[in-house]
Amino acid sequence: MYRAPRGTFDILPEDQPQRRFILDEAMSLCQLYGYQRLDTPIFEDYQLFARSSAGGTDVVDKEMYVFEDRSQQKLALRPEGTAPVCRAYLEHGMFNWPQPVRLYYWGPTFRYERPQAGRYRQHHQFGCEALGDSDPALDAELIEMAERFLARLGIGSFVLYLNSIGCKQCQPGYREALQHHFAKHVDELCPDCRTRLSRNPLRLLDCKRPSCQAIAATAPPISGYLCPDCRSHFESVQSHLARLGIDYRLEPALVRGLDYYTRTVFEVQPDHEAAQSALVGGGRYDNLVEQLGGKPTPGVGFACGIERLVLGLSNSGVVVPPSPYPEALVASLGAEAKGKGVELARQLRDAGIGAIMSTGRSSLKAQLRQANALGARYVLIIGEDEVRTGTVMLRDMAANKQETLPADQAERQLRHALGSTPQR
Ligand code: AMP
Repeated sequence: MYRAPRGTFDILPEDQPQRRFILDEAMSLCQLYGYQRLDTPIFEDYQLFARSSAGGTDVVDKEMYVFEDRSQQKLALRPEGTAPVCRAYLEHGMFNWPQPVRLYYWGPTFRYERPQAGRYRQHHQFGCEALGDSDPALDAELIEMAERFLARLGIGSFVLYLNSIGCKQCQPGYREALQHHFAKHVDELCPDCRTRLSRNPLRLLDCKRPSCQAIAATAPPISGYLCPDCRSHFESVQSHLARLGIDYRLEPALVRGLDYYTRTVFEVQPDHEAAQSALVGGGRYDNLVEQLGGKPTPGVGFACGIERLVLGLSNSGVVVPPSPYPEALVASLGAEAKGKGVELARQLRDAGIGAIMSTGRSSLKAQLRQANALGARYVLIIGEDEVRTGTVMLRDMAANKQETLPADQAERQLRHALGSTPQR
């Protein structure tokens, strides 16, 4: 028997209400802040991701699903949503639109990671990006949005971590300082960190291995290396957050997994001890559009993992209403009645009443059992007697009552009954 590939999963009907709730909240949030939806393909030119992070990150080096198509084009399943948004921004000349351009996306994301709770090989992300403006108020807007989103979902306890990782001007000096610091302990570093030391020393700060963390703890903080512009940008972001009453913790070791970030970076973590997985991650990426061949264009955004939010809903005890039950099931006995039933079901749907046609040749008892299992509120029964007399039996499943009606009145009577019984 085939199973879904490792690290992937089916989203069953019973899982849909929570995800629908998250999507509805995401869409109304974006409407509130003026972000428009952009859908990009789930695969892109491999170079888009390779170039955007210039290598040296796990996402690009180890986790991408890369393949050649039948014309030997090297493609990658998207491991994240920001580079595709920037690609679309350039491809569609969005730099000619009024800036900043505010966009959001929602869709599957692929990373070849070791599957564990909240970590999958195909997961889904909702993300917001604002391109074409370097105003620190925009950084604060995105953080405010992420916070409001979690609050609206009812995910109560979380911590926002904030840092600035500088820009093209000041980051090289900091990288050198880190290289100098970590080089003194090179023998104690894990093999991954030894590679990172020359390629991407910032990433040494967020290695999860305790031995590397101990060395990272004594590394010089970036705050001492920020250039005046980056410092003033960061101060301004913080003063906006203070005005908005948004709590945050400064976290000098927060560098984020992708290489294109500049200045503001942030992450929202659940506020309980076992938590190690971010709900939301984001930041500024002022060099990315240029790296992809455009004019220098600042950008800032965040992404959140839908599966982490689903977990967050459960952990916070949020109860999402189930999908609505079908309103009616049409049951029939015999070929002639089946034909009448098919017609009646269509008539009900024409009138906007949800109707499920009972198929096959089961007994009336079995059809009523089916109605119960589906949670149908009413059953319309057509048997041989009903065919002969041109009637339909309308059964109220909750009240355990039934009445016989002329067939041409069934729809009107059902509509009336639905209007007067509360939704289950
Ligand atoms: P990142 O681009 O790594 O910051 O990811 C953005 C968000 O997506 C994270 O904050 C998580 O909520 C979620 N996420 C990242 N990787 C995975 C994964 N493998 N499985 C599930 N969710 C993920």
